[in-house]
Amino acid sequence: MEMIVGVSTSFSAAHSIPGHYKCGRIHGHNFKVEVEVAGEVRDGMVMDFFDLKKEVNEIISKFDHTLINEIIEVPTSENICVHIYNELKKKGLKVVRVRVAENDDKWAEIRL
Ligand SMILES: [Zn+2]
Repeated sequence: MEMIVGVSTSFSAAHSIPGHYKCGRIHGHNFKVEVEVAGEVRDGMVMDFFDLKKEVNEIISKFDHTLINEIIEVPTSENICVHIYNELKKKGLKVVRVRVAENDDKWAEIRL
């Protein structure tokens, strides 16, 4: 049987959105990242939560306590979400959802 498992983690970073009337000024967020992967349940697991979290943290650790603009030119939540999704795909994970939230009430999400 195929199931979905997910983890959430977070990082703190600064960004500015070039040309945006408000977000063009450098400011920070405690970004929350949620990732879900799908797979067959084998030996009672789709994937070890610890391993999945490690893979996600490896990707977001390069953003933590940085100015994200130095890594992504236009670091909107949408573009950060795409970046994380692409990196997870490179690792060969069957990703079905990635969410990047700037706050509790603002997020971008890829759903497959
Ligand atoms: Zn922002």
